[in-house]
Amino acid sequence: MRLDIVKFIYELSKEEREKHVRGQDVYWVSDLVRCSLKRDYELRYPELSLREVFIPFYISGSLIHRGLQEILKERFGDVIKTEVEEFKELLLPDGGKVVIRGRADAVIFGDEGKIGLEIKTSRSDINIPHEQHLEQVMIYNWLMNLNYSLLIYITSERVAQFTVFDRFSESDIVGRVVNPIFPRYVWECNYCVYSVLCPYKKSVSSK
Ligand code: SF4
Repeated sequence: MRLDIVKFIYELSKEEREKHVRGQDVYWVSDLVRCSLKRDYELRYPELSLREVFIPFYISGSLIHRGLQEILKERFGDVIKTEVEEFKELLLPDGGKVVIRGRADAVIFGDEGKIGLEIKTSRSDINIPHEQHLEQVMIYNWLMNLNYSLLIYITSERVAQFTVFDRFSESDIVGRVVNPIFPRYVWECNYCVYSVLCPYKKSVSSK
């Protein structure tokens, strides 16, 4: 049978997606830095989000992630771990509990303690580092007890790293869970698979 690389990439992308198991009481770090409704819609309409399995831009980003992770492992050996997943349980003001779960691209265990590494790919370098990415690593700093994180951008115009020492507090995270914002950024609606049914969709004028 002829080798089908496209199918192979599709399967890889599907596997990657299946690692993010959804649960009523589970909040992934990414859920806390984007439109809060998207998590609800993913639970209610899981099939709609399947379209994201094969978006070429996401696939190229994911391949760059994997490539850099492998190169770092080759270069630094045991001091670096990739795809590091951790979770913490949080008590909400109403007595309920939620689990905050996150997966960092890599964690380096070196002389400076635990350092997180988050890789971002983008078409353009305009306005990097982006607020939602800074918040993501600030939550990882809290979740994984990291000394700091390196936010690495690989774009067509610039390859740059930003050092992030700030961290969210537990009460900041609780605030994100109990105070939903939708959308968090107006531009999110333009790329949202749930925009076809969402009554809160915001339209940005093309002028
Ligand atoms: S359309 Fe906009 S408000 Fe609605 S879920 Fe998507 S991003 Fe959120």
